[in-house]
Amino acid sequence: MEVVSAPPDPRRAVPRTDAVLADPGLAPAIASLGRPLVKSAVVAAQQRVREGSLEPAGLIAAVLAGLPSTASSLRPVLNATGVLLHTNLGRAALSPAAVAAITDAAGTTDVELDLATGTRARRGRGAMAALAAAVPDAGGVHVVGNGAGALVLAVTALAAAGRVVISRGEMVEIGDGFRLQELITSTGAQLLEVGTTNRTHLQDYAGALDAVGDAPSIVLKVHPSNFRITGFTSAPPTADLAALCRERGASLVVDIGSGLLAPHPLLPEEPDAATALRAGADLVTASADKLLGGPQGGLVLGRADAVERARRHPLARALRVDKLMLAALEATLTGPTPPVIAALEIPVAEVAARAERLRRALVRGAGGALGDADVSVVTSTAVVGGGGAPGVPLPSAGLSLPAPFAEALRSGSPPVVARLEDGATVVDLRSVPPTADADLLAALVAVARALVADAHAVAPRTPSSDREG
Ligand SMILES: *Cc1c(COP(=O)(O)O)cnc(C)c1O
Repeated sequence: MEVVSAPPDPRRAVPRTDAVLADPGLAPAIASLGRPLVKSAVVAAQQRVREGSLEPAGLIAAVLAGLPSTASSLRPVLNATGVLLHTNLGRAALSPAAVAAITDAAGTTDVELDLATGTRARRGRGAMAALAAAVPDAGGVHVVGNGAGALVLAVTALAAAGRVVISRGEMVEIGDGFRLQELITSTGAQLLEVGTTNRTHLQDYAGALDAVGDAPSIVLKVHPSNFRITGFTSAPPTADLAALCRERGASLVVDIGSGLLAPHPLLPEEPDAATALRAGADLVTASADKLLGGPQGGLVLGRADAVERARRHPLARALRVDKLMLAALEATLTGPTPPVIAALEIPVAEVAARAERLRRALVRGAGGALGDADVSVVTSTAVVGGGGAPGVPLPSAGLSLPAPFAEALRSGSPPVVARLEDGATVVDLRSVPPTADADLLAALVAVARALVADAHAVAPRTPSSDREG
């Protein structure tokens, strides 16, 4: 029987997975990333050999090129949205000092041990001391996993199964469908809404407290951190609420949201912990990863005995933070200006100057792929973000580029998240740290070249090719 010779089967040339994984060239990667991750890169490279798009000899190099830099799938991303605190991008970026502190604390560390005496010590005492020093008006400080946890703990510790009086204008949804009223009633407390959406008076609170009788009760003041009610509005000052609470034996809890510890001149409307405590709040709760610029966390600050009740409540154990958080929080409080505050304070002229430098470098770097008409410096308006200062415009500047840049930048290296605005991609520089400008330029140049190459590949036929056809 005659045998027709078939084309060589490329599968024959694919080395076996075990053999590839045993290659000494992959040993360091297996040691640092783990075998399963390297194995999936091997399987992907083998598939390319099978399809004929990769020579078997290039297999190891392709595996190494296909490996992620760490064993986590979370990737560093440049935030060019102009939203300084972007929930989808992990809110506050940590300062280099906080990052270094996390690395140091990552192994075994003296988080709960006094090395001098060899005995147990208060967990995270360095971070607590730094927090107490940063908020001298607080008699006590405590830290939990996030702002919502801080609020739940404060309410539970001061009014378990009691009454929580809150203004209708402060019933906020904090994101992803979570609503404050549901959070509070989940503690077993009963919610008493007072006033109206736009106006609530001291008498409204007084009436509710009188109706409560002897049940432990809290007046809760919440900062509407992600929206603003303007026009005909009214709310009693915190000091008046504090006086009312003292008179009626209730506690005043103030959820300031963003975690500003003291007033910031650029955000005059944003509530801060020092002001709320001086006005007489028993407890102030806040997030650590908004305008404080630290790791995810929730602060409980206030009267020493009220904080101690929160700290000793069984729920506190369920909300306990880890050593990495404590390390980063302490370094944020004692270290250099955190990135979110630096981004807030940078003068707009400096942002604009960076945009102009970036534009010139991009046109040059793209080597003719981008004309002057494709990229321009634009003024822009940045915002603090859902984490604080709603309605406060931050003058900014950036680059305007053709719309297809947005998607290509997102899948680039490093990924850059920009804004689509009126059919253009806007790269807002206020939310990008100046130290990342070189990385941003590299990502922009790569996208410009790739988009132009693609455009040529799929370009509509020109009149001359019509003639040829
Ligand atoms: C952000 C915010 C919260 C929730 O804090 P997380 O840290 O996200 O849990 C609660 N209250 C207010 C007013 C907030 O702004």
